[in-house]
Amino acid sequence: MTNRRAKIVCTIGPATSTPKHLKSLAEAGMDVARLNFSHGSHEEHGHVITTIREIAAQVGRPLAILQDLQGPKIRIGGFASGSVVLAQGAKFEITTADILGNENSVSTSYHALSRDVAIGDYILLSDGLLRLEVVEIRDDTVMCIVRDGGVLHSRAGMNIPAATLTTDCLTPKDLQDLNFGLSKDVDYVALSFVRRAEDIESLTAIIRERGSTAGTIAKLEKPQAIENLDSIMTVSDAVMIARGDLGVELMPERVPFVQKEIIRRAASHRIPVITATQMLESMTDHPQPTRAEASDVANAILDGTDAVMLSGETAVGKYPIESTRMMHRIVTEAETQCSDVSPIEQKRRNRDTSVSHDIAIAQAASRVAGEIKAAALIALTKTGFTARLMSKQRPRTPIFAFVGDGAVTRQLCLYWGVEPRLAPDKGTLEEKIILVDNELRLQGFVRAEDALVVVASQSTHGKTNLIRIHTSGQPDTK
Ligand code: PEP
Repeated sequence: MTNRRAKIVCTIGPATSTPKHLKSLAEAGMDVARLNFSHGSHEEHGHVITTIREIAAQVGRPLAILQDLQGPKIRIGGFASGSVVLAQGAKFEITTADILGNENSVSTSYHALSRDVAIGDYILLSDGLLRLEVVEIRDDTVMCIVRDGGVLHSRAGMNIPAATLTTDCLTPKDLQDLNFGLSKDVDYVALSFVRRAEDIESLTAIIRERGSTAGTIAKLEKPQAIENLDSIMTVSDAVMIARGDLGVELMPERVPFVQKEIIRRAASHRIPVITATQMLESMTDHPQPTRAEASDVANAILDGTDAVMLSGETAVGKYPIESTRMMHRIVTEAETQCSDVSPIEQKRRNRDTSVSHDIAIAQAASRVAGEIKAAALIALTKTGFTARLMSKQRPRTPIFAFVGDGAVTRQLCLYWGVEPRLAPDKGTLEEKIILVDNELRLQGFVRAEDALVVVASQSTHGKTNLIRIHTSGQPDTK
């Protein structure tokens, strides 16, 4: 157990896929392992999944596995020479015809290109480093003028911020990858380039049809998704601020404010939000982050993010374990600066006029725990929902969530401040309380006479409806 509350997501890649590295990542603070299905084979991902499950057993705590689906990522085709240099002001064509590229033209796999773009739109290539303006559209070819030139490599990514892309969000590749991920029991499935709620609803339908309880994560990286934030958040189990592609599609100066807005809305929807990409980017090649990166991570924590993510730093970087340790240190330090109730939570409380019973219970329990200086908040929960509501209250008191299902303990790894525990779902409420109290006392998390605030359900419909103050080491009377 760590005293850090926000969670750390590490992207696994060639730099970290051995058992030794994965164990070191877990020991350094990884809570969630992200497998990026834009890269790697099913065989490679399968090995990593098996190893992570083994390591979770070795380190004695659950680790969640997040499958990240590529989604409708648009790319250009190849160049005979591997790359070309585009000069500013030059003409350049992008076509859906099957050609090998050169300095004048290149193909794209995006077959609706000429239908979806308009004259005057910008096409961004290579993470936005090159910028082309559309000047003419002819059949299957879009003619452009290079506005920002540079080196363009085969298969570079392509973004068209102004266009409403008409492709399906789940591509044939995604469906195959999803099938594989669900057969391996992944805990979360993230979908890239989500544009509307229906994209996540289609994903959820397939997950449920397959009998999986995996949670969905909407990757927010399109301007259209930002316009549809509330409806997307209503149907998603969590969201990711995918600042890589989002930063290409939006003007750089907009990104900090969009990030803050997403975190604020996720708090209203009471779902976890992951702040992702370039957080400690310079640690891909150096053992220390820049101080600007340290500030970026700390500010995401102060804004109220539930989790922070490492991408290239842990997937292909030279210092993956050091990056994770550094992330842990920065987050822990930032959390000492957070007030009892975060400004975001305070604003929400002021705004909420009426709340559901379970939210009221979560609010009250967190407040009682703070007021009586309880040693722990304990959620006895089946689905993890109560733990999520308590997490979103941002209490200072540690939250221990006891659940009967291993898959739920793994999903809880993403929830801010929640320490997931497996406990048999049997016996009376009093017996369960004694059991978890004994466990926490034996492990040194609480001491005899400490106050514990327990939240549970004592109803036939399973809804959270009870708060109890228990004194550690003492029997509870009915
Ligand atoms: C991003 O774009 O920030 C992101 C997380 O997605 P990916 O790493 O798949 O590009």
